[in-house]
Amino acid sequence: MTIDLRNVPVLVVGAGIMGAGIVQVAALAGHRVMLFDARDGAAAQARDKLAATLGMLAEKGKLSLDAAHAAIGRIEALTALVDARDAGLVVEAIVEQLDAKRGLMRELEGIVAMDAVLATNTSSISVTAIGNGLQHPARLVGMHFFNPVPLMKLVEVVSGLQTAPAVAEAIAELARHWGKVAVHAKSTPGFIVNRIARPYYAETLALLHEQAATPQVLDACLRAAGFRMGPCELMDLIGHDTNFAVTNSVYEANFFDKRYVPSLVQREMVAGGLLGRKSGRGFYRYEGAAAEPLPVAVHEAPATARQVTVHGRAAVADALEQSTTAALAPQGWGPARERDSDWVGLAIDGARLVLTDGRTAQQLAADLGTPDVAVFDRPVAQLMQPAQPMHGAQLAQSAQGAQLAQSAQGALPGTALAYALAPGASDAWRAQAPAWLAALGYAPMPVADAPGLVVARTVAMLVNEAADAVLQGVCDPAAADAAMKLGLNYPAGPFEWLARWSVPGVISVVQALDREYRGERYRVSPWLRRQHPSQA
Ligand code: NAD
Repeated sequence: MTIDLRNVPVLVVGAGIMGAGIVQVAALAGHRVMLFDARDGAAAQARDKLAATLGMLAEKGKLSLDAAHAAIGRIEALTALVDARDAGLVVEAIVEQLDAKRGLMRELEGIVAMDAVLATNTSSISVTAIGNGLQHPARLVGMHFFNPVPLMKLVEVVSGLQTAPAVAEAIAELARHWGKVAVHAKSTPGFIVNRIARPYYAETLALLHEQAATPQVLDACLRAAGFRMGPCELMDLIGHDTNFAVTNSVYEANFFDKRYVPSLVQREMVAGGLLGRKSGRGFYRYEGAAAEPLPVAVHEAPATARQVTVHGRAAVADALEQSTTAALAPQGWGPARERDSDWVGLAIDGARLVLTDGRTAQQLAADLGTPDVAVFDRPVAQLMQPAQPMHGAQLAQSAQGAQLAQSAQGALPGTALAYALAPGASDAWRAQAPAWLAALGYAPMPVADAPGLVVARTVAMLVNEAADAVLQGVCDPAAADAAMKLGLNYPAGPFEWLARWSVPGVISVVQALDREYRGERYRVSPWLRRQHPSQA
């Protein structure tokens, strides 16, 4: 059975920020749209505001005046729900409460035709639960838009236990017709985006909890990895109360699985009213004070080495060989290459600058038999583009002696990259390790010696969470990738990261986290193990 919703009259219930956005998109796609809100006058008010918005878009040339007028003419504000009898599709965007949504859907069953589709825009409530008690639960489906609806491309089409596949497919088709990208999801806590994104906040909060780095450093490192906003500034924007509530709801809905445990750091901020931008202060201050600058060290040029060898085979090793070759070129020599090592990085005389595989610098120092070890984070963003060769001139420029410079976050002298030193490292290596990273084009950010540092840890946990979502049939890998890129503007999807990294690489970081912290939080997804039988 195929259901075609492309020409049906649409009823939107709830004239808030989401409802209004959905009305705009549906009316512009040619539907007659009815809008109802329980608050007197709210629907008419929203319609007037939409008329102004569409008029403005026409003035700016984003759509023709005719199209704007026609769309406005198709929007009708209702004063009674019973007037929506001929709706072929209802999209509900009312308050996020199960009883309210369930009650509304039951009431609608008494109003609209038997074959009308009922869609809910819930962001966290089980679609199966909303459908419980309906005469025809097969026609209820989640149609989860993202805010702002007219701009965000993603729609999660969420099927509850009783949703008919034909209904989910019809909503996906309609979403595409509305210019959106539809991804199918099973009704599970957080659906796709709000579930897979949890580690982006959780790992940063965990690092803050153990004082491993400052919010500024964490934000700088993750932005350098291609994320549009760092987790701290993003939580400040979302609002800590909202972000904490979503984390709590995913945690509770998963029977208090430790993987989703909320953070004491964030609870304290919520308790204190440090909610982020909206309260004037979160991790950062938004009122009265100038933006806090990120302290950036200016490093001297590395001392002349007798021998430099690039170790390992991975793409990072190749990029490292390129940049090391460029960095050493002014001195008239280049690095050697040792592909068969079981680690990636640089051997600089007796010292080691090692790409994180989850082992801490302390552990690596023991394993490699030298105290002079620094571990550095995964340079994720560079692996998405062709490596940028370093210019020798940068070496000369930085030869001013070590001094602390103040710099705005956006004006770093290179790509922010976290590193940590082994506790027994010599004073000379403590200065030389960041100097080498700077010479290779990075803005080295010292952080505590925690497994997977910042980016590798975060990306590994995002991939691991996505892998579990796929294991549990919440979505397929392509849907997870599309959802994270379109719903949250991630620079890549989790399975795209995995393809550029490796299954054993991700597993090794998650396992290192598990060894360090013990407990259930850092469990390797069985889906990942099954991709790589040697890891089973
Ligand atoms: P909102 O508070 O801006 O709007 C909700 C509207 O629903 C209000 O105008 C309210 O008067 C009306 N309402 C409440 N109960 C009603 C009822 N029983 N019948 C009719 N109208 C009723 O909320 P919002 O941010 O637009 O969110 C609406 C829904 O969309 C929620 O389920 C929310 O979880 C979901 N959602 C929100 C976002 C977001 O970023 N805001 C994103 C995705 C999904």
